[in-house]
Amino acid sequence: MKPTIPEFSPPADAAARRAIRPVICYPPETLPVPDLASYRAAREGWVKTAEVIVPARAAASFEVPAGHFFRITSIEGPQVGDLNLFSADLSERFYSGKTRALHGTHLSTGDRLWSSFPSLRPMATITADTLDWYGFDGDGGSVHDVIGTRCDPYTHCLLSDGGQYHHCCHSNLTRALAAARGLDLPAAEALVHDVLNVFMCTGFTRDTGQYFMKASPVRPGDCLEFFAEMDLLGVLSACPGGDCGSEHSSDMARCFPLLVETFRPSAPPAGWASPPANGYDRSHGG
Ligand SMILES: [Zn+2]
Repeated sequence: MKPTIPEFSPPADAAARRAIRPVICYPPETLPVPDLASYRAAREGWVKTAEVIVPARAAASFEVPAGHFFRITSIEGPQVGDLNLFSADLSERFYSGKTRALHGTHLSTGDRLWSSFPSLRPMATITADTLDWYGFDGDGGSVHDVIGTRCDPYTHCLLSDGGQYHHCCHSNLTRALAAARGLDLPAAEALVHDVLNVFMCTGFTRDTGQYFMKASPVRPGDCLEFFAEMDLLGVLSACPGGDCGSEHSSDMARCFPLLVETFRPSAPPAGWASPPANGYDRSHGG
């Protein structure tokens, strides 16, 4: 956090230095643009193949073959979901930080979820977001962020004088991944990563730059829909923070389950092919 009273006085040209115009680090027009029209056309006549209910304060896993869709839906009440994505063979994981750098702090329709190095390729593309009307509110908050990490028992222990809580999203994801792939808990925990905070409403305070959350605008029936660019294992935690309007890492908030459904299109989107691994040759100048 920046100091209220700085230790050092500003230089004579401080105003000029601050007035330099920002440059977008990764202009989105330099990325390949997904053909949303053909993705959406592929939904015509799709067949639902599975559904999973993620219980409140727990996580569940689901498999999505490349070329299929999956949809996360709010049911029963406002609830935030913490999503991890893995390639089916676990060799690639969702890379929240790079996705943020490429698409911004909060995701919506047309944005991609990118995988870890060295593959760095789209794992999934968002094809529908019923909360896209929310945009950015007056506090600078928005939904579906890639700025938080996931609630976890280590931070909770640190901030609560040794408190032990076992239903943070990090632990929920760890247990569900372990069960999905027959891993022991330490092996699964090592693969759990920063999430897409589905339905969560977050931002940074303008004056201090602190991470904030506010009650999610999600209501039953709202959904976020994805197209799987590769064979995926998804793991979703229904955060113990519920709508994340007050606190998490406890059993205090009212929590609800989430629904995950998968769909098989009658034919792949026109012109679509599963993205190849990144083209960098990995010689690193050595
Ligand atoms: Zn959580």
